[in-house]
Amino acid sequence: MKKQVQLATRLTQLGRNVKDQYGFVNGPIYRGSTVVFASVEDLEHSRAAFAYGTMGTPTIKNLEDAWTELAGAAGTVMSPSGLGAISLALMSTLKAGDHLLMPDTVYRPTRKFCDLTLKKFGVTTEYYDPLVGEGIIELMRPETSTLFLESPGSQTFEIQDVPLMTRLARERGIKTIIDNTWATPVFFQAHRHGCDLSVEAGTKYLSGHSDLLMGLVSANAESWPALRATYDSMAMLPGAEDCFLALRGLRTLHIRLQEAQNRALKIARWLAEQPEVKTLLHPAFESCPGHAFWQRDFSGSSGLFSLVLDPAWDKAAVTRMLDGLSLFGMGYSWGGFESLIIPFDCTDYRTATRWTHAGQTLRLQIGLEDPDDLIADLRQGLDRLHAPA
Ligand SMILES: *Cc1c(COP(=O)(O)O)cnc(C)c1O
Repeated sequence: MKKQVQLATRLTQLGRNVKDQYGFVNGPIYRGSTVVFASVEDLEHSRAAFAYGTMGTPTIKNLEDAWTELAGAAGTVMSPSGLGAISLALMSTLKAGDHLLMPDTVYRPTRKFCDLTLKKFGVTTEYYDPLVGEGIIELMRPETSTLFLESPGSQTFEIQDVPLMTRLARERGIKTIIDNTWATPVFFQAHRHGCDLSVEAGTKYLSGHSDLLMGLVSANAESWPALRATYDSMAMLPGAEDCFLALRGLRTLHIRLQEAQNRALKIARWLAEQPEVKTLLHPAFESCPGHAFWQRDFSGSSGLFSLVLDPAWDKAAVTRMLDGLSLFGMGYSWGGFESLIIPFDCTDYRTATRWTHAGQTLRLQIGLEDPDDLIADLRQGLDRLHAPA
């Protein structure tokens, strides 16, 4: 990141070169497989800026370079989905016989990739309490090659002590990968906090419009060659239009995150005061486990958080609440312009931690609607909890 201008300014500049674009502000969408060479000599030595579609195009390179600079990394590769990026990162650090440490609060499809696919290739996954801290040392084995982090944790938002965990791993020659989707590099600089690889589901905030699936993996200098080689060996890359949409999303990423932060904080503060809400699981609130690490390491909070309702209400009451909402949609993914809410139950698949809250749990994604409209929708929803069944 160049020092002379602020992040918001850089986001308007990265990944485009007006001089090469006939003066057009945005780069073109390069589609294609074949690249022709000028001579046999050039062909035999792959002497060209681009050699074949799977090895990159100017559109792909624009996005790779922009993300590398934003993330403070040595290099970036993309994948057609966030989950694809996670599996790519894991395959670059793991081999048969290795032991992998995974936080119990990891994004659930990541867990499935470990338990199904990695297991088949001879990798043993062990789940750990994301708040284990120094205790991670006791779980490290001679064959542990990778420590995975996700902070905050999926659904329940535990913040990990990333500098401590990455230092303990590095001292033992263990690679670290973080799923940094919630904060993005705008609010958390993963590599500066010691992570070797950092994954972003671009599907969420980089897209910002729920119209794109994409994953990005950035790496520090030490881990970059293995990541790039793994990527090149599989050639699972996003399409040109998707890279163009991601570059477009990059221009407003900072502003959309600021808006998501402000709106989510306003709504979370209001929710904290409602008698029906027992506990707020939002990293910027003291009630969130690991809040002190968020305060120390992050420069902001995004628009996704959870809450625990008072145990007075059961699943049927929550169904009444959610079914009648008019502005909040119910659906997966997040980071778009529209607000979402889902009920979740993390008790039936986690294995290394015990969930101690008794109330029903909800996850909210705050979009760009007027926050007072969203609050009114939620207040009516909370009122329906009290309605006779
Ligand atoms: C959504 C999400 C992913 C996966 O992204 P997809 O593009 O939907 O595959 C990975 N990690 C986290 C934390 C996510 O929220």
